[in-house]
Amino acid sequence: MIFPTILVAMFITYRTRGMPHHFLPNLAVLCWISANSTWMLHDFYLWDSKPMALVFFIAGFVIISVYFTSLLMRKKKGNYILDRPNFLLIFVSLIRKDMKNIDEFSSLVELLTTFNTEDKCSLYIARKRWGNKPICPHCEYHGKVYAFADNIYYKCGACRKKFTVRVGTIFEDSKIPLTKWFAAIYLFASRTKPVSSLQLSKDIKITQKSAWHLLHRLRYGTSHPDYKKTLKNTVEADETYLGGKEKNKHLSKRDKFGGYTGFSANIDKAAVFGVVERKGEVHAKYVVDTKRETLEPIIIQNVKEFARVITDEWYAYHNLKNQSFQHATIKHALKQYVVGDIHTNTIENFWSVLKRGIYGIYHFTSKKHLQAYLEEFAYRYNHRLITPNERFDLLLKQSNVGRLEYKTLIKK
Ligand SMILES: [Zn+2]
Repeated sequence: MIFPTILVAMFITYRTRGMPHHFLPNLAVLCWISANSTWMLHDFYLWDSKPMALVFFIAGFVIISVYFTSLLMRKKKGNYILDRPNFLLIFVSLIRKDMKNIDEFSSLVELLTTFNTEDKCSLYIARKRWGNKPICPHCEYHGKVYAFADNIYYKCGACRKKFTVRVGTIFEDSKIPLTKWFAAIYLFASRTKPVSSLQLSKDIKITQKSAWHLLHRLRYGTSHPDYKKTLKNTVEADETYLGGKEKNKHLSKRDKFGGYTGFSANIDKAAVFGVVERKGEVHAKYVVDTKRETLEPIIIQNVKEFARVITDEWYAYHNLKNQSFQHATIKHALKQYVVGDIHTNTIENFWSVLKRGIYGIYHFTSKKHLQAYLEEFAYRYNHRLITPNERFDLLLKQSNVGRLEYKTLIKK
């Protein structure tokens, strides 16, 4: 009798939500197993255990009825009744089937079929953000947090406030479903080229205004300073200009990639400064000018002491050797581009990708938002060696930078 009972109980718990991690069904199973055990004691003529077995059996039924009633009520009210202590979550995550293969998607189609509901997306973000231990965004409490059975809501054990995985992230206060967010993140982070807000609005069926705001929130996610490394070993530093008239530029700064076609000629040129570690990361910054007082602090802030810094002959770099860096110069004015391993080709490659992206896909970007675009291109460059899925996950992990409100974005 014991095996059929366990099988039936397991079947019921699996069928209810496909997840046998609810406290009450587990308790019911325990009752039925106990009923079996006591009944078997009777078989051994030890004592008359039938009444006790019956009590266990009925208790199991009462518990499972309470469970189903609560499920029905929750659906009706749109609320929850069962708090789920997270230690059960950890235990059961070992035997859960529904999330086991969720990491394995290798295309947009697979992503869309895997993450087809809000709760699946929520659960996935929760795992990337918190691992197995949700943290309350209201009071930063690391203790007991209850997860609701709908996989969307959580409740803090300390401040008793309710929250979703969106709170404290770039998804907060967004009316766009997470399923669309996931598609957008995939298009943004996994591809080698940027996606425009017009294209994205058509791809995931939202307005262009929403798409523009969404993309800016993703750029905001890529810009977190905690995720940036200090550059070391051999570092190239260089400045460039976006927009503006070619003939006004210093000879060594003239664009080798066909100028500024497609870029609005009315926009003043914008200076951008970048430092890149060879075989490492790039940090790019919009700067008001390219004077020494502007560029030198950025190098000091981003590059480790005693690193080798390679630049062109621009006067702003002349003092670098006095700043505990080994400084090497390539003289572009003398038509020198590579002398041994002294060159600035790495940073210039980044500039060419940046310019192709900004002129070709965005066509136009105001100085106000330029830094955000630079962060986007740097993010893509800095994570070029990991897989598209890893870039997707990384952006989810970095989504906890907080909200970026539309009114902040359009503020003059
Ligand atoms: Zn709290």
